[in-house]
Amino acid sequence: MTETHAVIILFGGSGDLARRKLYPALFGLYKRGILHDHFAVIGTARRPWTDEHYRDIICGALEDDSDYTLALARAFASHFYYQSHDVTDAAHYVTLKDLAQKLDDQYEAAGNRLFYMAMAPNFFSTIAEHIKSEALLAPNGFNRLVIEKPFGHDFASAKALNDSITATFHEEQIYRIDHYLGKEMTQALLALRFANPMFEAIWNKDYIQDMQITLAEAVGVETRAGYYETAGALRDMVQNHVMQLLGFLTMAKPAAMTPEAIHEVKREAFEQLHLYTEEEAAANFVRAQYGAATIAGTNIKAYRDEDGVAPDSLTETFVAGKILTDQPALAGVPIYVRTGKRLTRKSTQITVTFKPVGTGLFGEDAKASALTIYIEPTEGFTLQINGKTIGQAQSLMPEELHYQHDAQVTARAPEAYERLIENALEGDQTNFTNWHELAQTWRFVDVIESAWRKDNTMLTYTPGSMGPREASQLLAQTGSSWYWQPTRIQMAD
Ligand code: NAD
Repeated sequence: MTETHAVIILFGGSGDLARRKLYPALFGLYKRGILHDHFAVIGTARRPWTDEHYRDIICGALEDDSDYTLALARAFASHFYYQSHDVTDAAHYVTLKDLAQKLDDQYEAAGNRLFYMAMAPNFFSTIAEHIKSEALLAPNGFNRLVIEKPFGHDFASAKALNDSITATFHEEQIYRIDHYLGKEMTQALLALRFANPMFEAIWNKDYIQDMQITLAEAVGVETRAGYYETAGALRDMVQNHVMQLLGFLTMAKPAAMTPEAIHEVKREAFEQLHLYTEEEAAANFVRAQYGAATIAGTNIKAYRDEDGVAPDSLTETFVAGKILTDQPALAGVPIYVRTGKRLTRKSTQITVTFKPVGTGLFGEDAKASALTIYIEPTEGFTLQINGKTIGQAQSLMPEELHYQHDAQVTARAPEAYERLIENALEGDQTNFTNWHELAQTWRFVDVIESAWRKDNTMLTYTPGSMGPREASQLLAQTGSSWYWQPTRIQMAD
């Protein structure tokens, strides 16, 4: 394990993301020796905190770690410095630059700087501009920018944001976070697809019937209505997480397992995403909001009755749709996606259903084989195949081969944020979103948004269900159905 030398400048050091995800992730890197003696973190936010108070906050954020001891947490937190900073005030960047230089010398950080924007997106451009104008970029070491989602709310705003940050950082220095790319099973998808000739050989339209991606949440909008009202399920989940999973499912085999080769095939996959007309978008996508219900004696409010939600809101809490690719190998294979809040249970999973064998040998008995990849909370996969019913002459029955990651091994594996920060420190962009992918996914989403703006129809669904009936009808058109129906007993249940 090589130790990385760096000064990390964190914008939004008092925020929720920093406490819940980033400090535990950095602690994980510290315990593994990837960050150890030669790093410092400058946390910035508006509040007038002292370094001591900030270090108490850091220690508090680590208490759930299984290796936590106060002594270890304090040793780690001693590398953290707090700078009260208004990101719109140019003078504050000068102070920040002086502190970064001082800490670079003190910790022998080799002139390397990692800038992490963990703030509301409307500040991203301002910060990038000031980093340039106040000359915060280190002259000798690396300069890398990690940037959180959302990256724009449509193509035009994403492009404007990209133009402003690329005035300071080159594409090779920008690490756009989509934490789904840091998840174990998302990364395992590539191994499954490309290290097993049996899947590689049949990953095409001759054998695949359809692909399905589900990102289900059981919770409602909680305290995020302010943001959610401006986003909705399509922008919040499909444009980024669902599309990134789709990229890994549909991309061709990379020439090598290098960031450049993987991004090249992923870029081609997104370029060949079939862009709908508005009429096609309206016909192939369904949106809905959760209604009210009483579940196990608890009253659940309808989305429109939630605090901070407009009573006539047209923000969808559920979306399902059919996506197509123009890649010759997978042309015509429907990729069904769905995501929503207040669904039956939290789970992210993908199913690839293979066409059943011709009826010649086994008649109607032969079912479609299916590969399901469980991304979270369960990690593993299931392969459903046709077996033979015991004792009965050549009659078939479906059998499921399960593999589930060992819970203890999984618990010791780095969390998504830990992997991603490690990748950024190593300069490995494999698991980050590049601009071309983003641009294309926004183009795709913009057409759907624009079709919806012309039609105020908003379906409702019952909390605890898997969305409105129309989401199933979408698949029925091709004679298919959602593979994951959570009332069924399955591995992920
Ligand atoms: P937050 O509101 O909890 O924190 C925002 C931070 O910005 C605070 O530290 C605040 O002090 C600072 N800040 C606000 N205005 C400032 C100013 N003018 N000058 C300096 N500092 C200022 O937000 P969050 O939930 O931590 O989210 C941060 C980013 O991460 C957002 O882009 C969000 O979309 C993204 N994100 C968050 C989560 C999460 O779990 N919280 C998950 C995924 C992505």
